[in-house]
Amino acid sequence: MRILFFDTKKYDKEFFEKLLPKYQNIEIEYTEVDISEKSAKYTSGYDAICAFVNSDLSEKVINILGQKGVKLILLRCAGFNNVDLKAAAKNNITILRVPGYSPEAVAEHAMALALASNRHIHKAYIKVRENNFSLVGLTGVNFHHKIAGIVGTGKIGAAMCRICHGFGMKVIAYDIYQNPDLDFVEYVDLDTLLKESDLISLHCPLTDDSYHMIQAETIAKMKNGVVLVNTSRGALIDTEDLIKGIRNHKFHSVGLDVYEEETENVFENREDDILETSITSRLLSFPNVIVTSHQAFLTEEALEAISYITLENAKTFEEGNIIEQNIVKL
Ligand code: NAD
Repeated sequence: MRILFFDTKKYDKEFFEKLLPKYQNIEIEYTEVDISEKSAKYTSGYDAICAFVNSDLSEKVINILGQKGVKLILLRCAGFNNVDLKAAAKNNITILRVPGYSPEAVAEHAMALALASNRHIHKAYIKVRENNFSLVGLTGVNFHHKIAGIVGTGKIGAAMCRICHGFGMKVIAYDIYQNPDLDFVEYVDLDTLLKESDLISLHCPLTDDSYHMIQAETIAKMKNGVVLVNTSRGALIDTEDLIKGIRNHKFHSVGLDVYEEETENVFENREDDILETSITSRLLSFPNVIVTSHQAFLTEEALEAISYITLENAKTFEEGNIIEQNIVKL
């Protein structure tokens, strides 16, 4: 099987190359270019392409892949909201993903954002480097004995529930299905979660139902001084409404690993660019907001698991015994 690996970063190649010798029939060619209508034209002769979370897998791109004879798209990530599944089905292209690689990696980053933004670690780091040892503006809140509200209790949300429980928080959650493993969690409706939580962390996928679940109306229902964290998908939050909420002092702090305008930014060094839109810069202008660049997954354990499961997906596809739970279906 020949795979064209798009949007390669140094760490991707490092972790895939470590495992590749164990897969005799798989050959990978790496390109730093991401998949697009233009680059999809160069996929002739490849059985599969490997793409990541923000890659353009729209109808037009998938139609080109179909014409070029690509049979398999290997997503080296869990999310697939960037894939036109109808176009894939029409072109007889199978989509395989990595449904869970290290839920703890993402949940630990969510807690890191909650703690760092709550205790102003980002401000303190800069201040102390400038010999400013004043504590003014650095007051945080205890999480101990407070209420954590977790939206979505699948693999990552469950890990976040356990972390918050370990911090001595009462954990409440909202999900369309209850997770039977979480006997210490009290399930509530979304309104109750919004009203009661001191820390709200989002862990549900982006779907038509969850799009902009956090907007003016839901923000108004939250407690004043809440800490809000999003490591799931940017469009769960209406960013313009979030900015209004921040300006109205609704939030003690906000930690975002994902945000609506991230696509152009994700994993790119844009130091010399004049940004075309202003959401990122406005978010960064607030002292109580921390933004990271979709890095919640980035641990050694997660990269190892991603490369292993992706290569197993390629192997099992070729052998005709695909791992059912890794298939992305309409
Ligand atoms: P999962 O499928 O195990 O769990 C998702 C949970 O959300 C399920 O329990 C589901 O019932 C629930 N859910 C679905 N729609 C909902 C809704 N409208 N309201 C409330 N709950 C709803 O997924 P996971 O592995 O825990 O991942 C969660 C999300 O995290 C992914 O969809 C992805 O967007 C994001 N993610 C981010 C990163 C990162 O690096 N920042 C990495 C991996 C995944």
